[in-house]
Amino acid sequence: MKTEIPYKIYLSEAELPKEWLNLRAFMKDKPAPLLNPVTLKPMTEEELAKVFCDELAKQEIDDQSKYIAIPDEVREFYKMYRPSPLIRAYCLEKALGTPAEIYYKFEGNNTSGSHKLNSAIAQAYYAKEQGLRGVTTETGAGQWGTALSMACSYFGLDCKVFMVKCSYEMKPFRREVMRTYGASVTPSPSITTEVGRQILRDYPDTNGSLGCAISEAVETASGLEGYRYVLGSVLNQVLLHQSVIGLEAKTALDKYGVKPDIIIGCAGGGSNLGGLIAPFMVEKLEGRENYEFIAVEPSSCPTLTRGKYGYDYCDTGKVCPMAKMYTLGSGYMPASSHAGGLRYHGMTSTLSELYDKDYMSARSVKQTEVFKAAETFARVEGILPAPESSHAIKVAIDEALKCKESGEKKVILFGLTGTGYFDMTAYKAFNDGEMQDYVPTDEEIEKGFGTMPTVNLK
Ligand SMILES: *Cc1c(COP(=O)(O)O)cnc(C)c1O
Repeated sequence: MKTEIPYKIYLSEAELPKEWLNLRAFMKDKPAPLLNPVTLKPMTEEELAKVFCDELAKQEIDDQSKYIAIPDEVREFYKMYRPSPLIRAYCLEKALGTPAEIYYKFEGNNTSGSHKLNSAIAQAYYAKEQGLRGVTTETGAGQWGTALSMACSYFGLDCKVFMVKCSYEMKPFRREVMRTYGASVTPSPSITTEVGRQILRDYPDTNGSLGCAISEAVETASGLEGYRYVLGSVLNQVLLHQSVIGLEAKTALDKYGVKPDIIIGCAGGGSNLGGLIAPFMVEKLEGRENYEFIAVEPSSCPTLTRGKYGYDYCDTGKVCPMAKMYTLGSGYMPASSHAGGLRYHGMTSTLSELYDKDYMSARSVKQTEVFKAAETFARVEGILPAPESSHAIKVAIDEALKCKESGEKKVILFGLTGTGYFDMTAYKAFNDGEMQDYVPTDEEIEKGFGTMPTVNLK
């Protein structure tokens, strides 16, 4: 007889992973290397170490080590909020009347309110180990900046955050959380950097973008002694740290002999999804299992579903290395959206390669249907989800309803990346019936592609 599955599957502290899983090491076709934007040659560890911390530069180019040990200091910190719960969505299943089993891995159980803390604490640790004074970064919706502020205060590092101007204005309380943890927060574009001043001259009314804030943070770090730049998504090192999500989820499901048929996650830069699917994708790559993976993105920023696969700039100012990825072009200006964490123009190279080789699929969904799903979920499961996470909820509900039609009893796992307490302006727009959907025209998408590098890069 199958054991009754509890609402929450908790793991013990001892079951917290001791190693991160490096998905690239299991791929036969490796994601393409980062390129130096000037020489167009693959970035070396030494070059990367001018921008990133030494150990992180090393992790960034390591596509051979299958597992990398989680430092004890990082594991100690993880213990404050990990292992995170894996929840069986009994109430949602009942509300939908579906025969499907739905599970979600909840990453919102820490003050930063998202999975970003998993990588922030690792990156802050390596910066501290190297004897640095501080780090700079950008934040879109604010979750990454918050996570990094917490991580930096824990290790006694200075933290300078460039926050995309529209969220700086829309989410003042996010900013105050960061300041409470000792970070300084500057709206981007700002007059404190060359890139920022240039963008303000060209586009005086701009709301800012992640690409622009990245350029400002990189420029600031390179001008300060003892500082490096850190990034909360897109990079391989971030996917590596986020594998803790998938490793825990798999251990928890294995305990009850549960195998997911479909694994769903929202995709901004791809780090939570890359982390969630990591151990499952390994089994698929090795031909042992055939899971279906679905990346969910906003229709206003349809990187996988409508983007191109090729080398592109990672930031507006073109100061960062170039990455081969699905992209809308670094000059693509997404309409302002309430899922700020999903507005990046590109997708991490690892997931781009897996998507290109059909190991996973992607769907884009409209903002109003996402919030409708968030509402359904909040009302039965109790948790108020982040708008970003709600993209995954939307597709999980769609899949569960398909099962209701067909009578199939599929097992669905999705990543609930965070909570939405700082997104009440968005919820207000939805509740007032004032939320708008935005789908870019083909011309707008083409315009974005026009900002990709013109040199022929293979
Ligand atoms: C940042 C963020 C995302 C998207 O980032 P990924 O790197 O694609 O995971 C999703 N959900 C929340 C709550 C976030 O803060």
